[in-house]
Amino acid sequence: MSPSKPRVPDGARAPASDPRSPSTQLRQHPERGRHDRATIDAILDAGLVCHVGIAVDGQPLVIPMGYARDGDRLLLHGATTSRLIEALASGAACCLTVTHLDGLVLARSPLHHSMNYRSVMVQGRCHELTDPAEKQAALERIVEQLVPGRGAEVRASTPTEVAATRVVALPLGAASAKLRSGPPIDAARDIDPSLWAGVLPITLAVGNPIPAADLAPNLPAPASATLTQARFPAPPIA
Ligand SMILES: Cc1cc2nc3c(=O)[nH]c(=O)nc-3n(C[C@H](O)[C@H](O)[C@H](O)COP(=O)(O)OP(=O)(O)OC[C@H]3O[C@@H](n4cnc5c(N)ncnc54)[C@H](O)[C@@H]3O)c2cc1C
Repeated sequence: MSPSKPRVPDGARAPASDPRSPSTQLRQHPERGRHDRATIDAILDAGLVCHVGIAVDGQPLVIPMGYARDGDRLLLHGATTSRLIEALASGAACCLTVTHLDGLVLARSPLHHSMNYRSVMVQGRCHELTDPAEKQAALERIVEQLVPGRGAEVRASTPTEVAATRVVALPLGAASAKLRSGPPIDAARDIDPSLWAGVLPITLAVGNPIPAADLAPNLPAPASATLTQARFPAPPIA
């Protein structure tokens, strides 16, 4: 089933967030900031886990979750008993982040060590999807973000399963991206060609599929597993 709210095609995205907005303006290293939707979407689409921050009874909570981007919004799901989903569905202010760690940056002084990364922060309020067909489509989108093509390989969710899950959508209205790449930035007085400095790259790699114990013998891994391995390949050994 295709999502009831179709994904927005490239070129027809919602406008980029206003970088002058006080809540999304970068003050530290503003040159690393981006507010265009192409950059924000690319970082979100490459991710698997987000962290959602909310305040519950005055206590800040930051909770790791799966997610999916569906055009101009992010979809989140949880059990009907989830405290987080209850807060999000009731319209509580929230902040969601996605981070990719791309490398450890080794400089020649402790202060100038750094990390290469791509991250996105989205601020706003969610609304709950209550229409069963829209919820089902949203759950399928979330699986597709994790393992593209898997939805076509498994059965659809039952109405009971859909009813046991709550889905919320967070608009991408107030979003910012921040990226660092490249070598260490040493102070001029620290430049010493005999002291190693540089970058240790980090990538997310998917290993070989591990079959469930109750599979028929020698059943090949499905196309979705192969595609996911290709999406997150192991880096070459130097
Ligand atoms: C990679 C990943 C993806 C996940 N994806 C989803 C998702 O898509 N949907 C979903 O509903 N849940 C997901 N979870 C689980 C999620 O993090 C929460 O545990 C869950 O949503 C329950 O939240 P709650 O506030 O109702 O938990 P409660 O059980 O009410 O939390 C009570 C206390 O348990 C501890 N706690 C709860 N969750 C965690 C945690 N993850 N790590 C450490 N301590 C914790 C905290 O101390 C918390 O205050 C995911 C977790 C991980 C690590």
